[in-house]
Amino acid sequence: MPIDDALARSRLAAAVPENVRQVCAKLQGAGHQSVTVGGAVRDAILERSPGDWDVATAATPDQVMALFPRTIPTGIQHGTVTIVTGRGLASHVEVTTFRGEGAYTDARRPDHVRFGVPLVEDLARRDFRVNAMAYDPAADQLIDPYDGRRDLDERMLRAVGPTGDVYEDAVARFTEDGLRVMRAVRFAAQLEFALDADTERGIGPALPSLAKVSKERISDELRKLLAARKPSLGLRIAERSGIVRLIAAPLASAIDARADIEHWLARVDAAPPAVRLGAMFAELARRRPLPRLDRVLAKDAEQLLKALKFANDEAALAATLVGIAPASMVEAWTLPEVRRLLSDVTRPRVDAAIAFFRADGATALADHSAAVSKDPISVGELAIAGKDLMDALSMPPGPSVGRILQVLLDGALEDPSVNTREKLLELAGGVEREPAR
Ligand code: ATP
Ligand code: MG
Repeated sequence: MPIDDALARSRLAAAVPENVRQVCAKLQGAGHQSVTVGGAVRDAILERSPGDWDVATAATPDQVMALFPRTIPTGIQHGTVTIVTGRGLASHVEVTTFRGEGAYTDARRPDHVRFGVPLVEDLARRDFRVNAMAYDPAADQLIDPYDGRRDLDERMLRAVGPTGDVYEDAVARFTEDGLRVMRAVRFAAQLEFALDADTERGIGPALPSLAKVSKERISDELRKLLAARKPSLGLRIAERSGIVRLIAAPLASAIDARADIEHWLARVDAAPPAVRLGAMFAELARRRPLPRLDRVLAKDAEQLLKALKFANDEAALAATLVGIAPASMVEAWTLPEVRRLLSDVTRPRVDAAIAFFRADGATALADHSAAVSKDPISVGELAIAGKDLMDALSMPPGPSVGRILQVLLDGALEDPSVNTREKLLELAGGVEREPAR
């Protein structure tokens, strides 16, 4: 069913929360045009559950604060005031004064904002036409000067702007704020929309702006993209427009061959969300087959992901997956080799590694890994501990205890049937002690 104006309005009327409606009504009552804008309007029309509802108003922040008893000056220099309409965060409504922006000399934040502009101008400084619609709940009117509704209907992302020439607007919007190119590919994946060709052409000229954006904001977008049903819908565009090359530059020269790109995209889509970050970078960094964790590769990946401000545990897990990617390329495995690999992976990441191998098409390795995953792969999982060794062999504490445990682990990785108290102690008795000094 095409999304016409009436259908869009009926979906919006049903979706606008009561407190948001009341905030708009009160501001309108005081003579200030007030509407809901942006992502929530887009999502409501698409029947996706909207995140936060944002209100835009002609009232100045001072006027807003004077009208409501409980307000928080959240971002007052940018015109944003939070109105507290009840208990809890869900009762908070962000109200932002219509604004136009001055020049962005740093590609991140406008040098200054101008209040007192009309709504159409406020909408024109946003990113995409589908994000530049407003809905007036009191009048039940969709305010859509840039034809965002048509784009929703066509499932297409086009840059918004005052010129109406999409390429020109795209270059301007993307250059002002380099994050918008990440938003473009994220929305392509998340909404499953195409990116209009002229808009995509605007990405290249804006890459220097992306390089100036804070790493946290980039990784937040990448995280959202990878959480989509099919990340490839965004990654394909990110790859061909140079975004991936820019982000992954320290790790890889990015992928060159067409076939490799298709393989990469399919692998990332096939990976469960928890291992997608690893899957994405593994493919970019892949080297020669190796039946162990490639520690150098893992270290490089961890450095890059930490520099991108991914959380330490996210970065460490993804880096391990990058480091075992070379193992996916090994054809023949013995079970001891698989255990050694899992020992490198460490217990908390074994399940992720198995999921990663499956997504990577290394089915035999995934099956072998699952089969041996109950076997001991660390000293802590052996049937005896250091104390048992010291008691049985009358050894003093010291480094040789750890050294012997390591030898025993090696034995158990080779043949897990030795992992009983008796057999391990017997083995330990035969391990050569360090010469006394
Ligand atoms: P989501 O909530 O899924 O991240 P969204 O589009 O709602 O997507 P928000 O960050 O909530 O994004 O912003 C709300 C609206 O503000 C957007 O729809 C858009 O109109 C505008 N906006 C947000 N960030 C930008 C940006 N970097 N450049 C231009 N406009 C933006
Ligand atoms: Mg939002």
